[in-house]
Amino acid sequence: MIVGIDLGTTNSLIAYFADGEPRIIPNRLGKNLTPSVVSVDQEGNVYVGETARERMSLYPDSVAQTFKRSMGTEREYVLSGRTFKPEELSSLVLRALKEDAESYLGEEVTEAVISVPAYFDDKRRKATKRAGELAGLRVERMISEPTAAAVAYGLYDKTRDTRFLVFDLGGGTFDVSILELYHNILEVRAVAGDNYLGGEDFTQVMGKLFLQKSGLSLQNLSAKEQVRLYRQAERAKCEISGRDRVTFSFSFRGETREEEISCREYEEACEELLMKIREPVKKSLSDAGLKLADIDEVLLIGGATRLSVVRDFLIRLFRKFPDTRLNPDETVALGAAVQAAMKERREEVKEVILTDVCSFTLGTEVVVEYEEGRYEEGRFCPIIERNTVIPASHTERLYTVRDDQDKVRVRVLQGESRFAKNNLYLGELEVEVPKAPRGQESIDVTYTYDINSLLEVEVKVNSTGRTQKIIIKGQDNQMTEEEIEKRMAELSYLKMQPRDHEENRLTRLRAERMYEEALGERRRRLDHYITAFEAALDKGDHDGIRNARDALNEVLEEGDY
Ligand code: AMP
Repeated sequence: MIVGIDLGTTNSLIAYFADGEPRIIPNRLGKNLTPSVVSVDQEGNVYVGETARERMSLYPDSVAQTFKRSMGTEREYVLSGRTFKPEELSSLVLRALKEDAESYLGEEVTEAVISVPAYFDDKRRKATKRAGELAGLRVERMISEPTAAAVAYGLYDKTRDTRFLVFDLGGGTFDVSILELYHNILEVRAVAGDNYLGGEDFTQVMGKLFLQKSGLSLQNLSAKEQVRLYRQAERAKCEISGRDRVTFSFSFRGETREEEISCREYEEACEELLMKIREPVKKSLSDAGLKLADIDEVLLIGGATRLSVVRDFLIRLFRKFPDTRLNPDETVALGAAVQAAMKERREEVKEVILTDVCSFTLGTEVVVEYEEGRYEEGRFCPIIERNTVIPASHTERLYTVRDDQDKVRVRVLQGESRFAKNNLYLGELEVEVPKAPRGQESIDVTYTYDINSLLEVEVKVNSTGRTQKIIIKGQDNQMTEEEIEKRMAELSYLKMQPRDHEENRLTRLRAERMYEEALGERRRRLDHYITAFEAALDKGDHDGIRNARDALNEVLEEGDY
């Protein structure tokens, strides 16, 4: 079975295609979203998702999150004294998703289409692929998140050429992509974004607003109190959409503070964030050579697009209503599942050609004559520009700069700086040219870049017709099959927690945290129910455990703040 996976910064989802449509597979707790959070304890037990997140306040040194941001980098995370790379942590999330899907579907899951942000460069894509392999999944195709969204909305099936803007505001990242459907080809035309803007910033604004109104100050709160304040802010933020006001309550050293926050106040406080959102929208439009009015449809993905402040802002900006038929959290995973079905060549889905864009500029080093006879060395000449649709092939003609020059060296570079030395060196190639006065000999340099991140550089000496070429594979630290197997074996000491006790574990952790936060009567009440639950667990009687757990959960629900 091939599945589609949205490996998100905050949450991940897995979906499959059946009976003509994509469907989300619920996880072991029956939920569609699995937080992309991993925890490893001293004994090497691995916790993934909500359980791992719940361990955050009790055992912060054992938990890692938002590691997607560091995919493809050398960053290391230390969990309970053990070291992990970002792709290894991602592989643990993928492993949990795979297990849940296998148990739900009753068959083995061997292959996955995984979505990646459109701006992910080759190195980050390869790291994602490796994460899949470490989880025991074959990953032959990846799909960019905005393309997956368009596919999920079925937009590839349109008969008319259409331009879409996919607006993706997640927990901690913001991406805008412009796609064009043209003659059955779905192209990403431009991408832009802000890696440090997302729903979390809107939560911060809510938290600050409460502090301002209540006269409390963040410095006076302990680390744990700050975590609690943030959780309350998150709750208030999610509740405020579609309402006039929310009540923000926060219990602080034995007393409960309550403040009313109106939608209007919140909107005003978010003004600065909304201004920040505007920038990448403008940039993607200008990179694609389009105006706001050229966009036919706006699609929303990412949990934070549920915020009415964000939706209202977009309606004002585009003067049209965004398409919100699908759940913004689930759209990408559904699209990945459709892509999986396309890969399997299922009859229910029409195969469309998906292209991508190059997320960086590829070029070469040149000497520039800025005045008659005056040269500046070390300049960068772009050949394939950022946001060019790939596969792409472009040629640039270059001339000799010295009399009797007999060689030309073509240095292949990646980056956006005007100066060669600031860009990333990928390789080089040297060709011989006949000696002649400067400017008389020329070479044609052709860069061909394909969807698998292979760059072919061909240099042709125009006077002799001789050509030479090199192929540069995306710069990365790709592991060989053996290396993957070795690391898989190394990771196998980790004990994935058996699926069936997950609810008990989660309830226990949540109860422990709440006990720490509570005081007085509530604390005693919690203690009573926790003790009863533990006694039931000790006895091992199935029904008894379920009843005690339900009772404890009810008490927890009463005061989850
Ligand atoms: P994602 O990374 O796409 O899972 O998005 C996560 C972000 O969406 C978090 O910042 C959440 O607070 C936010 N979010 C989820 N549901 C809502 C909601 N109903 N209203 C506002 N924000 C939400």
